[in-house]
Amino acid sequence: MSDFRLYNTLTRQVESFAPADGRVVRMYTCGPTVYNPAHLGNFRTFLFEDLMRRALALRGWSVHQVMNLTDVDDKIIKRAQEQGRTITEVTEPVIEIFHRDREFLRIQQAEAYPKATAFIPEMLALVGTLVERGVAYQADDGSVYFAIARFPSYGKLSRLDTREIRSGARVLQDEYTKENAQDFALWKAAKPEDEATGAAWDSPWGRGRPGWHLECSAMAMQLLGETLDLHCGGIDLIFPHHEDEIAQSEAATGKTFARVWSHGAFLLTDGSKMAKRVGNVFTVEGLREAGISAAAVRHFVYNTHYRKELNLSDQALEASTEAVRRVGEFARRLRDPATLERGGTAGLAHAADEALGLVRDALFDDLNAPEALAALFDFIRKGNAELDRKGGDRASVDRAIEVFERIDGVLDIVPLAVAADAELVRWIEERLTSRREARIRRDFVESDRIRDELAARGVVLEDGGGSTRWKLG
Ligand code: AMP
Ligand code: ZN
Repeated sequence: MSDFRLYNTLTRQVESFAPADGRVVRMYTCGPTVYNPAHLGNFRTFLFEDLMRRALALRGWSVHQVMNLTDVDDKIIKRAQEQGRTITEVTEPVIEIFHRDREFLRIQQAEAYPKATAFIPEMLALVGTLVERGVAYQADDGSVYFAIARFPSYGKLSRLDTREIRSGARVLQDEYTKENAQDFALWKAAKPEDEATGAAWDSPWGRGRPGWHLECSAMAMQLLGETLDLHCGGIDLIFPHHEDEIAQSEAATGKTFARVWSHGAFLLTDGSKMAKRVGNVFTVEGLREAGISAAAVRHFVYNTHYRKELNLSDQALEASTEAVRRVGEFARRLRDPATLERGGTAGLAHAADEALGLVRDALFDDLNAPEALAALFDFIRKGNAELDRKGGDRASVDRAIEVFERIDGVLDIVPLAVAADAELVRWIEERLTSRREARIRRDFVESDRIRDELAARGVVLEDGGGSTRWKLG
């Protein structure tokens, strides 16, 4: 079995990776803060994590992925207050949009999407342990803080010296109540706006709400155990978020929290980090409106290594649209009845075997997707040349199809064979949204009715991998 190698932020090295039990990779991925639809920068990170889970599966492991939904935080509370709503009223529609966008981009469904607000007892238990162990304290402002000075290895992930962290500290308004400016809140004492928006809970330290870092530690350990195989996120989360997750978890359990830490680089627009506040945000909705396919977005993202910054541009998206058109053509050509009838040459099967070997080597070498793509396009070039020659046997075409499907099972870059009829496509997507909503309501009668309605117009649905694909049958 081939080695699987990954860059570990903790050691700053590419290392051999395998799940601790040799079977299931227990993977935690920090999810979206659901106050606004996620932007394409967020989705670059989620696509990197989708590549990760599919590459791990190609290697033969099962994957158990947890992605949290941060449904209580300052921005959500502010939004709720402005709109005179509760935090749940703000977050629920955004969670819906997140899943719709995720499905559009063909990001496989994680095994769990825990909401922070559903794990308050687990978070309080963790705070209790940390207070008992003397690494957390309640300050005069009523909030409970983690004392970084009492956790000697604080800073090991970000490699920031704690003295540096202290001297470079941002001065917070309430800092005088803390022992140390950089001590971070585990539990935040409730303010009137928290109470007004449904963002306050009872606790042994009074009414309050959880801190963001606490949320991930509690849910990760509850759902995946005290030591995870792999913890992923965007590079901006290394400090303070992941550093603080390590501090809380390891101070409570005395065990390693995550064996490997993996971080994806940023998506930039015109050279600056994509973020809601800079106004250079691109949404999945915007892509759909511009007629850019999920296949093209995936190709665009995977054509750059996940640890390198990536610049979003029209030219790059156009080039990816053209590239995936070729992938789609090849996929159709392989399955064309005429091809199946004529059969393929030995050279076709050989090109397929070679491509699979190269793709596996590339993906297992720190997720080198650009190299995997290069191997796929080489296969397409050679495969087309072989198919232009005289026929051969059916087995070589079957082998080419099988290999193509395995490679595309990771990259997922075949564009939908859409009829030119954009009106029909819009109708299908609207029907699919209604069907998904019906399924969320567990209204299976309605969901089956919509399936039949689609079938009547020749649309065949395939549910699987957490999403629904359609094709014209
Ligand atoms: P948030 O909703 O801000 O908590 O972010 C969700 C995920 O998106 C985190 O893993 C972030 O690191 C990641 N992220 C945020 N902005 C970008 C960006 N411009 N490019 C890539 N990833 C990002
Ligand atoms: Zn997190």
